[in-house]
Amino acid sequence: MNDLSFLNDLGAVVAADRAHVWHHLSQHKPYETTNPRVIVEGRGLRVWDATGREFLDAVSGGVWTVNVGYGRESIANAVRDQLVKLNFFAGAMGTVPGAVFAQMLIDKMPGMGRVYYSNSGSEANEKAYKMVRQISHRRHGGKKWKILYRERDYHGTTIATLASGGQPERAAQYGPFPDGFVTVPHCLEYRAQWSDADYGRRAADAIEEVILREGPDTVGAIVLEPITAGGGVIVPPEGYWPRVQEICRKYDILLHIDEVVCGLGRTGTWFGYQHYDIQPDIVTMAKGVASGYAAISCTVTTEAVFDMFKDDASDPLGYFRDISTFGGCTAGPAAAIENMRIIEEEGLLENVRLMGARLGDNLAALKEKHAMVGDVRGKGLFWGVELVQDRASRDPVPEGVARAVVAAALDRGVMIGVTNRSLPGFNNTLCLSPALIATADDIDTITDAIDGALTEVGAQAN
Ligand code: PLP
Repeated sequence: MNDLSFLNDLGAVVAADRAHVWHHLSQHKPYETTNPRVIVEGRGLRVWDATGREFLDAVSGGVWTVNVGYGRESIANAVRDQLVKLNFFAGAMGTVPGAVFAQMLIDKMPGMGRVYYSNSGSEANEKAYKMVRQISHRRHGGKKWKILYRERDYHGTTIATLASGGQPERAAQYGPFPDGFVTVPHCLEYRAQWSDADYGRRAADAIEEVILREGPDTVGAIVLEPITAGGGVIVPPEGYWPRVQEICRKYDILLHIDEVVCGLGRTGTWFGYQHYDIQPDIVTMAKGVASGYAAISCTVTTEAVFDMFKDDASDPLGYFRDISTFGGCTAGPAAAIENMRIIEEEGLLENVRLMGARLGDNLAALKEKHAMVGDVRGKGLFWGVELVQDRASRDPVPEGVARAVVAAALDRGVMIGVTNRSLPGFNNTLCLSPALIATADDIDTITDAIDGALTEVGAQAN
């Protein structure tokens, strides 16, 4: 039997982590001389590391996930009760929490009809791509197989989701990739690619140009984040979304919205797309669905999409021949039911709107104060702060500066994020996504720490 007594010895735990854990998204060379940070406990927006240091987590578990905050006993209890009753059943049969959460979700998503369960955002997107490909075979005689995606957007780490990722450094060295994924231009007005006054419409027209270049009969779907997250917190400009919907309808192209970050209240509505009066055909979600209390993701479709898979019961290929074993874990939907109940009962959507406005105002004030802040953008509790060398040229700060700001904020006890490291011009946006329960004090603590960090790093740069 293993001796687990070292569990109570945090020094030994950190040593085990350093010796044996391969951390996500990490260069491990520094761990030859320093210890990785091991997070031990969380309550509300606060977490504690193995040395006992407290931090205010302004990124919801590092990757915009813990929407309802840490230490929620009611979620833990709901999961426990469900696991004792029935932990798992997969395949063609249902489970009680799976059915209940599907009903709750569809109630929040007018126009949508079906929920397909899996475990991660990448997986949910893969399922959606497979649906599009099968629709191509079933409905379009093998045409309409291409899936469009946008520069700077991110949809996951599997080979197909990397093939549809707009952040090339994520995909570098992992090819070759499957065919049929085609990029369209990003819509970040601060880094405008056109001089049009109606920028939103112009950026959406660029999608139509790609469709016409590729041939409308080759394009089956487009996948888009409602607000791009890791690619720079890009809120699409006015006029963008209605035009995207119009283009999709004109060319019979399925609109797939990736709500992995924006879903479940992050921007002040249940889903990010609901700010824009559009009707998607497919919506994927993960992270905030159960706030990290259990693994769950969903690929949600309209009834019209679902119907394309059931028209011929005698056809051996006439259904979605896909399974996710752990899509049958009941912990996920049990946690998701309680997570959604909390968001509703605690009025968190309203809190996001109020606290999001405060965060936006505080960040606007930081822009007035610090020349390094070129642009501030966001919605609800989801904000980005783009750092530049010089406001006139908008040249991004050199590699390392944004990371220095993140480190200086951490020294002040606040965890903030930054966009991906190695893509020139893309690595300079600070990311903020505190839990939806953030108070005015929390918001001010976050922006005070950024203020101090910008002053410190700015002074070093001069
Ligand atoms: N889609 C978006 C918009 C994301 O930000 C992410 C992860 O950050 C994913 C998909 C992939 O989710 P997962 O890491 O759960 O596979």
